[in-house]
Amino acid sequence: MAQRRCPRCGDATAWEGNPHRPFCSARCRLVDLEGWLGERYAIPGEPAPEGAVEAGGVAGAAGPEADSRAGARSRR
Ligand SMILES: [Zn+2]
Repeated sequence: MAQRRCPRCGDATAWEGNPHRPFCSARCRLVDLEGWLGERYAIPGEPAPEGAVEAGGVAGAAGPEADSRAGARSRR
């Protein structure tokens, strides 16, 4: 019970008193965090709904790059 496996590298790691749990080290924790952030920014498989883009007034104005920017802007 005192030991868990690091979800990142699979190494056995102490659970109690481990500031990086459930990871074995700060490195594994950072790697995992970056993975999450990368996925969040990429938003794979979720194309912006056309209705939302049209509401922003930029429908068909530009490519996917500007599209993601419009999505951020439309949060206002
Ligand atoms: Zn690890």
